[in-house]
Amino acid sequence: MPELSAIGFDADDTLWHHERFFQLTTARFVELLKPYADPHHLTEHLHAAEKRNVKHYGFGVKGFMLSMIETAVDVTDGRVPGTVIADVLAAGRDMLAHPVEPYPGAGTTLAALSASHTLILITRGDLFDQERKLAASGLGDYFDAVEIVSDKTAPVYERIFARHGHGAGRAMMVGNSMRADVVPALAAGAWGVHIPSEHVWALDHDDDPADTSRFRRIADLPALLPLVAEIA
Ligand SMILES: [Mg+2]
Repeated sequence: MPELSAIGFDADDTLWHHERFFQLTTARFVELLKPYADPHHLTEHLHAAEKRNVKHYGFGVKGFMLSMIETAVDVTDGRVPGTVIADVLAAGRDMLAHPVEPYPGAGTTLAALSASHTLILITRGDLFDQERKLAASGLGDYFDAVEIVSDKTAPVYERIFARHGHGAGRAMMVGNSMRADVVPALAAGAWGVHIPSEHVWALDHDDDPADTSRFRRIADLPALLPLVAEIA
């Protein structure tokens, strides 16, 4: 079997917390809208708006902010006060400034692997926000390349691993999203390693693959070291 040369890492909820900020902001959104709309279905309305809008706005906080505003207007039949919209925008801005705390073992794991492998950060989201978080994380120096992409598909992984490594066949993708990190990477011919996260975004779920020869699931980032050693 050809040697593993490149390892791609997802960022949000793989290297640092992310989804919990969305869930906190969603709770704040529901509180803000409660006086003006039936609170029971607000979260579902918001998730439906996110799902509709991701193809227009892409992934990230700014698109989420627009989906919150759209939902606020919809559920109040246009009567939501401007002051509430201002509060929704403030909640979104807070997300864009939240502190970045890498998961335990992220730095040591990346440091160990960077000595022997090409490491690539592969993430979706707003360019500005992702660059901010990477800088704040202190993990940027471990990566040979950073790819902020609009979507994570098999052709995207093929292109990235051809550009930075020796092709997808000698690459591995590591992340918390079955749908975005694991399934398309496997389809591209790479290894797909799933590290389940505490919070999972509704659009990130997917079934385990039928062919598990290159699929692995591990508990945390440090468990990657014995796995990579085993594959080598
Ligand atoms: Mg993620």
